[in-house]
Formats: sequence, structure tokens, C-alpha cells
Amino acid sequence: MEISTGGTQNPPKLWKQINWGDCDRCGDDAEVLTTENRPDWVNEGDEAICVGCGLKGIAIADESEGAHIDWNEFDAEVE
Ligand SMILES: [Zn+2]
Repeated sequence: MEISTGGTQNPPKLWKQINWGDCDRCGDDAEVLTTENRPDWVNEGDEAICVGCGLKGIAIADESEGAHIDWNEFDAEVE
């Protein structure tokens, strides 16, 4: 474990693959850039990206509807 210098710091954001939030465009899995280290958990507003086609989105942690990815709009053709 590395020792960080300089007092209180935010935990680093790391890319993490999740088992939900499949891509709207290609159906592949999503990764989120998050400080949350529990499997499949995300934080509201975490940046998301599709591992298949690279479509980007934002993680929404909605207690009533469950967490999901708000994918960016995209053209029908994969870039
Ligand atoms: Zn995709």
C-alpha cells in the first residue's frame, strides 16, 4: 500500500467494469470511472464508457428505479 503525502485526499477514480448498464448502441458492457470500490456499485454522476464501441454516458444512482447509465445520444452508425 502506498503512502500518500499531504493529508486528506479524495480517493482515486479508477475504471471499473460493471455487470449492468449495457450499452444502448451495441449492448456491450460498461465501465465507470469511480471512487466506489464495491463490485457493481457506482456513484451518482460517474463517467461511463462502453467497452465495445466507446459510447459515453453518466451513471445515475436512482434509489427508486435502480442505478442505470444515461448514455449519450448517438448516431445509428457506429463511428
Ligand atoms: Zn457500445
